[in-house]
Amino acid sequence: MTYSRTTRKSNHTPQRSCTVCRAKADKSDLIRIVRSPDGKAVVDVMKKLPGRGAYICPDSDCIERAKKSGSLAHALGIVISADFWNDLEENAKTFGSNPALKIRSVLGLSRKSGNLIIGTDNIDREKRKVLVLTASDCSESVKKFAESHENIALEMNIEELSESIGTRGGVQIVGLPINSGFAKKLMSLQKRERGNAV
Ligand SMILES: [Zn+2]
Repeated sequence: MTYSRTTRKSNHTPQRSCTVCRAKADKSDLIRIVRSPDGKAVVDVMKKLPGRGAYICPDSDCIERAKKSGSLAHALGIVISADFWNDLEENAKTFGSNPALKIRSVLGLSRKSGNLIIGTDNIDREKRKVLVLTASDCSESVKKFAESHENIALEMNIEELSESIGTRGGVQIVGLPINSGFAKKLMSLQKRERGNAV
């Protein structure tokens, strides 16, 4: 008896269809939207949330069509708010296959969801273990501070980091609880980004 089929890492990626155009694509190339327990549509960044879900291409055509036709609302069985469409468009813009862009998108969503910890003081106050992410042009003292945590040196500067989390600027360091899905996602994206750079 051989176990090679189950032990070998499979190259096969699960396929899903866009709710709107019906095109089939790798699961990782589509945006998953899920109906939350309180009946709202949310972008499922980690593609792990339980509940009724639907996939859509990360492209403005499909999003426009979903809005007009109501197909996404129908697939999820809910009424979709204007806020959600803005989130979805934002997410689609930064989706792509570029890990650097995905990192920005994940940071933005983690801020929106209230998981992101901004600045050394707030990170210090956090009781849980934190993954910290620093801007490429952060100060020496922030760099030192980061070294006492699990850390990622981002390939974006203070301005870009601030922009990706929707603040007015000056953000040198952010943190995420290390056991959160967001932190795990960022660590795997960072690995991919490094891989691409070689
Ligand atoms: Zn589509």
